[in-house]
Amino acid sequence: MRRAWCPLASLWWLGCSAPGAPSAAATPAPREAAPATVEAPREAAPAPPQPLDACEEARRAASAPRPTDPDDLLFHVNRARAIPAEYPVSSTSIWSPCAPTPAPAKRTDDLVCIPARYSYRNREALRSVAFESDAPSSPSLTHDGLPVGRAGKVGFKALMDDAAAAGHTLTVRSGFRAYTMQSATFSGWVAAELAQGRSREYALRKVSASSARAGHSEHQLGTTADLVFARANGAVYDGWAQETIAESPAMTWVAANAHRFGLVMSYDKDHEAITEYVWEPWHYRFVGVAAADLMKRCGWTTEQYLDARYGEDGPSPVKRARREPAGADHSPRVH
Ligand SMILES: [Zn+2]
Repeated sequence: MRRAWCPLASLWWLGCSAPGAPSAAATPAPREAAPATVEAPREAAPAPPQPLDACEEARRAASAPRPTDPDDLLFHVNRARAIPAEYPVSSTSIWSPCAPTPAPAKRTDDLVCIPARYSYRNREALRSVAFESDAPSSPSLTHDGLPVGRAGKVGFKALMDDAAAAGHTLTVRSGFRAYTMQSATFSGWVAAELAQGRSREYALRKVSASSARAGHSEHQLGTTADLVFARANGAVYDGWAQETIAESPAMTWVAANAHRFGLVMSYDKDHEAITEYVWEPWHYRFVGVAAADLMKRCGWTTEQYLDARYGEDGPSPVKRARREPAGADHSPRVH
């Protein structure tokens, strides 16, 4: 079950979890007219804060250029926007920086292996800023001018530490993927479909709904991980059933608390038409606390946040197709 969220700006300052809080509608009318000597307040009370102002403000302030460096925590990657193939490694032989014999690679100095107790597979890695965010290794890894560690302990390790303290065991099932690994991941899913006798067209369509092509995966940023829970007996859940994962106590806790650690669920249940990926309750990306908090308050997915912050995306084929009905005439019109 999802944590209740306050959808109305007008109720925010009362607190959604305060059922006994007074409201104008619930206040009984006075039984007697007030004495004439009592004057009405000369000035109206200051308006309570409107949380959605922050959302609107973010839209209005959308003038900054969209980050072009994949090191930026808010680099935009989706079906239309790609990460350069050379980021962060150029070698085609490397599988993961945590492989037993990693090939020489560039820009892997800020990639750390996930501690064994949190790693489903010991070879997995995340960028240190996403895992050990106390020590951002690059000056570009900031948000709103603040080092990402400014807000305190944030990132995946802090999240899993807090989850453990709350009685939940989490594991990183998949962390950083190099370009070649993402390519192999996508091809592997397609091969599995072909092995079942599916046509190539069917296989590509089906796999594309849930797996990104090489160059288009947030996992290549090093700030994204697939989390999964372990049962009370220590057995890690091995399936991909969305409801089972989302409704587990551990992942319910994650969904409610991830933003406090600068993490967001990239592909949520309510925005499949926008993200163009099926709901992935296990997939979290580190974007920094300020961004994660705003997304939580505004009910935005990462796509919506980045559009609000940097302005509407250009007419990418993906977004154009999303906005226009199938079969629409795309030819220029002269009026
Ligand atoms: Zn993922």
